[in-house]
This record gives sequence, structure tokens and C-alpha cells, in this order.
Amino acid sequence: MVSRRTVLRSLGVSTVGVQGFGEFSVATASARSVAASPDSIREHRHFRFDAERSRLLQRYEYRLPDSVSALIVRSGWFDLDEVTVIETDEFVEDSFELYSTEVTGYRWTQDGTPSFELSMDYGEELLPNGLGGYSSETSVFGSQINPYPYWVTEDGADGSDVERSVLFEQDGYAGTDWLFIGPHQIAQRDVGKMTHTVVVPDDIEGTIDTESLLDVFEAGGRYLEPRLTTNNGVTAFIMNNWRTGSDSSAQVVGRDIRFTKSATSVDGISNVPTHEYIHTIYGIFGTEEMFWLREAAAEYYGYLLALHLNHGTFDRFVETVRTDRYRDIVLAETGPDNNRASTYYKGAHVLAALDGQIRARSSGENSLDDVIPTAEYDLSTYDGFVNAVTEAAGDESLSDWIDRYTQTTALPTIPVEPEQYTLGTASPDTFVVARSDSETRSQGQSTAQGESPPADSQDALDEITGGVDAESGVLLGSAGMSLLAVIAKLYEDHRSS
Ligand SMILES: [Zn+2]
Repeated sequence: MVSRRTVLRSLGVSTVGVQGFGEFSVATASARSVAASPDSIREHRHFRFDAERSRLLQRYEYRLPDSVSALIVRSGWFDLDEVTVIETDEFVEDSFELYSTEVTGYRWTQDGTPSFELSMDYGEELLPNGLGGYSSETSVFGSQINPYPYWVTEDGADGSDVERSVLFEQDGYAGTDWLFIGPHQIAQRDVGKMTHTVVVPDDIEGTIDTESLLDVFEAGGRYLEPRLTTNNGVTAFIMNNWRTGSDSSAQVVGRDIRFTKSATSVDGISNVPTHEYIHTIYGIFGTEEMFWLREAAAEYYGYLLALHLNHGTFDRFVETVRTDRYRDIVLAETGPDNNRASTYYKGAHVLAALDGQIRARSSGENSLDDVIPTAEYDLSTYDGFVNAVTEAAGDESLSDWIDRYTQTTALPTIPVEPEQYTLGTASPDTFVVARSDSETRSQGQSTAQGESPPADSQDALDEITGGVDAESGVLLGSAGMSLLAVIAKLYEDHRSS
């Protein structure tokens, strides 16, 4: 008998030996979590794939130092029909509050080492609900449930921070929120403290340009400030196109991106990978009337990142940003269920103009890049957004401008000077200004006006189900909801469809 291959991948910043599961790297949600734990509470995640029954098994075990006197673990996942808790040890089921919602959880018996194991059933195609995964004869792609522990010590200290580690029984890889088990190749790049990873299952038809994806993740870190502070690199999980059925071609949760194969191409100013990368650093903000900002920011900064990576000339960038196709749309009236394309494209156009306004009114001191990544600014409300922008611009009167272009059908003029679009310390020399012959041709083919984004940018119409704000530990959903609420909503959608 060949012994089972045990593979463990590091997600985090520190590596320690932990008894029980053998050799092992430790994944941590953040450096802060480790420091704050009383003698380190350790959460071991043990993942395996039961191919015969098409199910993903996840076991969570908590190693508690003597000082810990109480522990509860909460998760909205327990309440989903597709999630079955198949075993608990030294844990008693109870119900708890999580983000103002009553959820099932487990309370430690205060004796021994508590653990629970759950099973999630997957089919061949991606489930269009919060479970978001699939299985095949040899592999499974699924969600980690990321439970919320809450502990108390005898000294009266309490907290939620634990040191996390991940163990795979088969060959597998875990990001922050998803995981893959089965035959695969990985491509990785270390950038500072982070490791960016692309997971390519062996059943992918054709080749994936993993280097171009890693270039996007690396350049993103070089040119852009994240709104979400994290030590985790980006993990891209690739799957065959047919896996997603009618679901979107790309999706972001936390620092993880799932792509269908056809959505992995980084060619051109408008492409899916740069757009999705932006979601991993800015996360989720914007409810109702501010929904547009989330997608517009991903689209606009996605174009900028592609420009800085020379995936298109500056002229082509301007042509991509500038659109009057959705002139009659009022951004504040768009949302996840209506006018989606306009949200992206008119939104990107308006943000480009707004970027120029902030640069001009602050005499070049600030740009939109001082607004979106600043976590202190509340971008989930219109007033919060206006406050953030006027403060960065140093000009209260800019609020009239914002009113005009987000609350009416008016369309602003965008700047056309390369220096208006530099990120960080980049200079306009970074850009290739002249348009190449091939671009001229493809532009001529795409639209009569030459003003609309290329047709393939429709692929960028994606979904986001949640984002992890690693610094605060708060899970945010697509409309500022908790991940639980998002799961509940997606689950409702699934049931009603
Ligand atoms: Zn998006």
C-alpha cells in the first residue's frame, strides 16, 4: 500500500510545528490574530474528499490552552440543508447570535479537545448558491465554512482570534475561502510577505497563462493600496467553462478568485482578471444606491492596472473608459439586478472623470486612489462617499458635481492626458501611448462609434458573495450584509429558482 499523500499548503505568514497532524504550516487570518490569542488557541482544519459520495468533508478541531474556560463556535453554514454535521466531539449544539442573526453553533463541554466534522454535497456543476462548488470523479472544489470562534479565559480575557492550520488528506490547496482537492498543478509567486497562487486542476482543457495572472496580482500590490488589510496572497482557482452553467465566469470571496478558463485571459484593457483582482483588495462596499461604486471601481481600476501592465495602449485605454452607450442611465438607480452593464461601464467613465476632478481640485495632491482604499471612509452610503471625495479634493463644491453625474443622466468629460491616470509613483512613461495597427483593427470591428468596451468585457459581469475584512474580522456581503446574510440570500435564490 502506498501511504496517503499528505499535502499542506500555507495560507499565512507564520510557520510552526503543531502536534497531531505531523508536519504542517500554519495559516493565520492575520498577524494580529496570533499575537492576541492566549497561549494560542489553535484551529486545525482537516479537509478530505469522499469521491464515492461526491462530498467534501471538513473537520475543525480546537486545541485549547489551560487558560481557556469557555469556547463557542458559530457559523451560518450549519443551517444550510446541504451542510450536514456528521460528528461532534466535546461540543454541544446550541444557537447563538451572529451579526444579529440567530444561527446554529457549538458550545465546548469544557472537557477534552472539541471538534466537529461536516459534509457538503456537490454535483458536477457549480452550485449557484452559497456553497459554490462542484465535484468530479477525482476532485472537489468547495467552500471552507470559516466558522467564528469566541473564547473566554479564566482571567476574563476574551476574543475570536485563533491560529489556523490546514491539512489535506489528499492533494489539495486552500485559499482564504475556497479549496480544491484533486490532481492539479499550482503556479506561485512570492511578493514580499505574500504568496500568490494559481490552482490549475489537471482536468482543465488546454493551457492557462498562469504567469500573466501572477503578473496582475504582483502589479496590483505594486501600484494600488488595498482597502482590506491582509497578509494573504491571492489564490486563483481555475475551472472548465461548463462547470459554471449559467453562473458568472468569475467570482471573488475574500482573497480567492474563481475563474472559468475563458475568463483567465489578461489581454486588453478590459479583462476579467484585473477587474476581479480589484475586488480582492477593495472588497465589498456600497449598498443600494452605492452598488454602482463597487463595480465601477473594479472596472476603472481594472483598466488602470491593465494600462500599467501594458495590456493596451493609452489611446485604447481612453477609448475603453469613454462611453456614451449608457448615457440615459442614472448610476444611483442601478443595482445588482438592473442595468448591470451600465453600472460597470458608465460607472467607470464617471469615476475616471471624478479622478480627474479630485486631481485638479487638490492641485495634484490627491486622486481617487486616496478615496477608495481608505477604510475610514464609509463608501456604503451616498453621504459617506460625497464626504470622502470632497475631503480628498479639498473642495466642498465637488458635491454638486457628484450629484449631477450619479443622480442624473448627465455624462461628464474625461481627461485625456496620460499624467491624469498614473497610479502610485508610476510615471506616464510607463504607458505605451500610440495605438498599434492591430488595436486599430480590433477597435474598428467592435463598434461603430469606437466608444464602447469590447464585447468580451461582458465576462466581467461577475458576482461577489462576500469579502473578508481581515483586519476587523468582519465579513461583509454584497450589499454590506454579513456573509451569513449573503449565504441565506443566495440560498433563498437557489430555492426559489
Ligand atoms: Zn465585479
